[in-house]
This record gives sequence, structure tokens and C-alpha cells, in this order.
Amino acid sequence: MKPERREIATTIANDPTNYKLCAVCGAIIARDAASCPDCYAYRFDTDTTHVQDAALDMAIKPQTAVSHFDLMAENAEDSE
Ligand SMILES: [Zn+2]
Repeated sequence: MKPERREIATTIANDPTNYKLCAVCGAIIARDAASCPDCYAYRFDTDTTHVQDAALDMAIKPQTAVSHFDLMAENAEDSE
């Protein structure tokens, strides 16, 4: 796991009110997002306890899929 991923997870866990979960794929996304950037669903779980649990899972479990975080321009530059 990349250390940045743990940092992102920590940021989310410390401030879950700015995030929500995609009810379809479970991705953690910005609270004001209109649809999930990973699967384009528009049903969400805004329970902050669930967001914190998902962030802690993200910090300790290996990444198993490409997420929208990986596709951001700043992260894509890391692989060069
Ligand atoms: Zn999704």
C-alpha cells in the first residue's frame, strides 16, 4: 500500500462529515459529489460512523481495485 493512501484514509477518518459512501461500490467520496466517480451511482450512505469504518478499512486493507484517487493527475505522475 502506498503511504499516501493511509494519509488519505486518516484525513477522512478525522473529518467524516465531508465524505460519504457510495451505496453501490462502497467508495469513499466527497460529500458534495453528485454521483460516484468510480461507478457513477447516485445512491449514498452519509452515516459518518460508516464513513469512518470504511476509512479505517482503507488504511489497513490492501488495495484491490483502481479507484478514482489513482486516476487523479497528481497520482498518475508518480508512476513515471
Ligand atoms: Zn460507486
